[in-house]
Amino acid sequence: MADREAEREYDIIIVGGGPAGLTAALYAGRNKVRAVLLEAKGAVVEGALMGAGGQLLNTELIEDYPGVKSILGSDLAQIMTDQAAQFGTEMIAASVGRIRVEPDGTKVVETDRGELRAPAVIITAGGNPRKLGVPGEAELAGVGVSYCAVCDGAFFQGAHLAVVGGGDAAVEEGLFLTRYASRVTIIHRRGEFRAQPILIHEARENPKVDFILDTVVEAIEGAPKVSRVRLRNVVTGELSSLDVGGVFIFVGFLPNTGLVDTHVDHDAAGYYVTNPMTMETSVPGIFAAGDVRSQLTRQVTTAVGDATTATIAATKWVEERARRLRAGSAEAR
Ligand code: NAP
Repeated sequence: MADREAEREYDIIIVGGGPAGLTAALYAGRNKVRAVLLEAKGAVVEGALMGAGGQLLNTELIEDYPGVKSILGSDLAQIMTDQAAQFGTEMIAASVGRIRVEPDGTKVVETDRGELRAPAVIITAGGNPRKLGVPGEAELAGVGVSYCAVCDGAFFQGAHLAVVGGGDAAVEEGLFLTRYASRVTIIHRRGEFRAQPILIHEARENPKVDFILDTVVEAIEGAPKVSRVRLRNVVTGELSSLDVGGVFIFVGFLPNTGLVDTHVDHDAAGYYVTNPMTMETSVPGIFAAGDVRSQLTRQVTTAVGDATTATIAATKWVEERARRLRAGSAEAR
């Protein structure tokens, strides 16, 4: 199975094995459709997919998934994978290069293990927070460097935190962090914010929030966890440092929405715009769920919900298409 090089036919191909993809695999299995999940970072060991989970694997503890008081992200990922596999959805460790839409609507998913074909595809390829790329960022990720206030904020009770960025996410998440932090310093590389004025107003009114503008972070330091950021004022060139217990970085998110070879409607930030009833994109038979989708927030719970809707809708879509094709060929006879 894992070594297949040949072209294969399915009803639904699920691209990506984060919480949205694993939920889609679970529902597809229970719906008894011929489905396959493709996960680039996974590996098949003794017939079972390991290493799926997407952003769950970058999250230490998850305490906001209903029904589970507290769980390691990696544990939740493996439980979701095993649960989906139990219902029969095939899972392949494969990296998707491109999704072609043929003239008859068939989707051809090109992977490093060959081509797969299906009428419907659910894209759950997620994305990645944009990185600053400064010394200390990668080394201290998970020990003071975070890209998710909702996931990690509660671990910084009483701390002075730095938030990097000047968009909606930085200001909104900075305000959220004041629930836990003693002080939140928003560090932005320009003197003007990209964030909406109402958010800036709210931040300026909040006594726990202060700003350092026209300034970039040059390094994040500390051992074994974050204790300081080194700063440079881009106007004066002045160097300084700020003692902090954590650094939350919100300088944009890069959704993996570049796979389809035809136009798919997306918003200004590149996220797929979907029908809220079905999660279908502007391309018939291509559905999207989780972090690739344009929506208010990106949580495990929303990814799971999106994927449930997308899979039920995709199943109905595939069945309806098969009915139409059968009716068409009966008419032709
Ligand atoms: P964004 O709007 O693209 O803002 C990114 C911010 O990071 C900008 O201020 C940018 O600075 C800064 N930045 C980028 N690269 C940087 C670097 N290397 N070093 C330092 N700073 C850097 O991203 P976002 O805030 O994640 O929002 C993404 C989209 O989601 C936006 O459309 C936003 O409106 C939406 N969103 C909406 C809400 C809401 O409506 N409540 C909440 C969150 C997100 P410059 O300004 O100088 O370019």
